[in-house]
Amino acid sequence: MELFNDEAWSKLTAAERSKYLRKWFDLIMAHKEELGQLMTLEQGKPLKEAIGEVSYGASFIEFYAEEAKRVYGDIIPATLPDRRLFVLKQPIGVVGAITPWNFPLAMITRKVAPALACGCTVVIKPSELTPLTALAAAELSIQAGIPPGAVNVVMGSAIDIGDALVASPKVRKITFTGSTNVGKKLMAGSAKTVKKVSLELGGNAPCIIFDDADLDVALKGTLATKFRNSGQTCVCANRVLVQEGIFDKFANAFSKAVESMKVGDGFGEGVVQGPLINDAAVNKVETFVQDAISKGAKVLTGGKKHSLGMTFYEPTVISDVKSEMLLSREEIFGPVAPILKFKTEEEAIHMANDTNAGLAAYVFTTSIQRSWRVAEALEYGLVGVNEGLISTEVAPFGGVKQSGLGREGSKYGMDDYLEVRIFQIFFRIYEKIKYICLGNMS
Ligand code: NAP
Repeated sequence: MELFNDEAWSKLTAAERSKYLRKWFDLIMAHKEELGQLMTLEQGKPLKEAIGEVSYGASFIEFYAEEAKRVYGDIIPATLPDRRLFVLKQPIGVVGAITPWNFPLAMITRKVAPALACGCTVVIKPSELTPLTALAAAELSIQAGIPPGAVNVVMGSAIDIGDALVASPKVRKITFTGSTNVGKKLMAGSAKTVKKVSLELGGNAPCIIFDDADLDVALKGTLATKFRNSGQTCVCANRVLVQEGIFDKFANAFSKAVESMKVGDGFGEGVVQGPLINDAAVNKVETFVQDAISKGAKVLTGGKKHSLGMTFYEPTVISDVKSEMLLSREEIFGPVAPILKFKTEEEAIHMANDTNAGLAAYVFTTSIQRSWRVAEALEYGLVGVNEGLISTEVAPFGGVKQSGLGREGSKYGMDDYLEVRIFQIFFRIYEKIKYICLGNMS
């Protein structure tokens, strides 16, 4: 099979690339039920959530099909009268995209769609735990007419593939979503060939509920951010910080709501909590919960493996959590909500920022002044105010501090796949040539 190389893809017009992307989007949407079923089978999330991820993942392809046509340059007034300065944006080159298992489709499309839109070809290395969704998406890209070689999927040893991608001088950009430790290794490895690197890494999201919050809004928002994908998302509330005046009321209502969540097979009727990804994930959650209990925390609901067995864990709420416990310090990545108490706004901000992570944070308050004040003081890339779900294709997604580099989604997501070049043109010389030519003709 002859592969379409990166130069051929980059030389298509933006309008042609846009049409391919639009077709790919249409095919994914036409197959959203099957893709959702595949995702539930290989990853475990409830079918409704899986189909929701297909639409969310596809939205990046639709958005970047449109954005492909808007890669504008600039003309800059030069410092000399007979010079002109042009800024041109060009595709960076071949992109290596390494993705995790928790969003098996969306983490791929969020990278591949802007890369293709900019004129880059991509080598995708999906998680070994969710290869089928990646392959199905790649197959649909071929059915959409995207030439073979523009979207590539490689399977195998993560370390070998990662090493090969970072070592290759042909690969000009690494985009990675996954754990902070692996991200740091890829960043260090990319230094050898001075590649551009984007990293979407782990979080430790605070969810702050003030006394003046609307309780129903806070409950709904906290449940949504904590328990989506059984707590296995990078933007999951990792610490629920509740002000002392509303603490008991919130903790009771929240535990009751969590207790009523139906756990089971993702295909089951009414199931909202699927299994965790594997035994290692369950062991990690158990270790964190035991650590908290041994240091004085109280289990309000859940707190152990689910009676269904396998990798099911009970949706859990734990109170009296302190900042030195593992539940507060590390990313839990499971269905456990630790609740911590605070007295003042300053204390809440201090507790929220007391971490190396800086991906997402949530604030619940009915005070407009407080919402601005606190949102601006939080050292996080994404802040939801009275809102538990904030990811969308039209807004830039990404972390500060050790949660990452670069942004995905929105017009800003294009920048990571483009090189900015300038041309300075000295044009007086052409006028001279024109004059000489005319002179010779007369
Ligand atoms: P992970 O273990 O870091 O794996 C992510 C990807 O990297 C997988 O494809 C994995 O392959 C690969 N990988 C592992 N070791 C590697 C190495 N030495 N060199 C190159 N590639 C390597 O993370 P995960 O457990 O799949 O995902 C959970 C993490 O992702 C959490 O920390 C979560 O917060 C983060 N996450 C962040 C975002 C965000 O946007 N910030 C979004 C989603 C998830 P194998 O699976 O085949 O080993």
